[in-house]
Amino acid sequence: MTDGIRTCQSCGMPMSAKEQFGTEADGALSKDYCTYCYRDGAFTAPGITIDEMAKIGGGMMAQMYAIPPEKAIAFTKEQISCLKRWAGREIALCESCGMPLARDEDAGTEADGSLSVKYCTYCYRDGGFIEPELTREQAIEQYAPMMAANLGMPLEKAKEMVGQYLSTLPRWRG
Ligand SMILES: [Zn+2]
Ligand SMILES: [Zn+2]
Repeated sequence: MTDGIRTCQSCGMPMSAKEQFGTEADGALSKDYCTYCYRDGAFTAPGITIDEMAKIGGGMMAQMYAIPPEKAIAFTKEQISCLKRWAGREIALCESCGMPLARDEDAGTEADGSLSVKYCTYCYRDGGFIEPELTREQAIEQYAPMMAANLGMPLEKAKEMVGQYLSTLPRWRG
């Protein structure tokens, strides 16, 4: 649990510090959920729907990164729909770009042709990264304009958001 960052499987918040993790009934730290979502072995808001959760998370994101609220909420819903609480199972995210590996065709391939359990098909094929020399800074430059266009946000804010997000992914944690 101390080996880096986990994503809360309810709200999508990255968790690294101990106090960010929720707690089980016996006081142990939850492996899956953050302290805002889960305490003493139960969800703090057991009846919340994915739409309500997306509204809260999207609302914060809209403020933080100057995104039109309805776009931020739709984006948040899409992101959290891959989490265990909403999908019914934990879906692995590409450790390079964060794309959910929901279906076999989303996964990259190892040298022997088997599917990668860590990386997506856009990042990793035949056992290697498609862009092995890509740095975190270049990745930000590459992803931020798409993000800015999709979400209708200023490019500078998109860079900030992508940078923040990449720092939660194993490939860039360094
Ligand atoms: Zn949470
Ligand atoms: Zn990827």
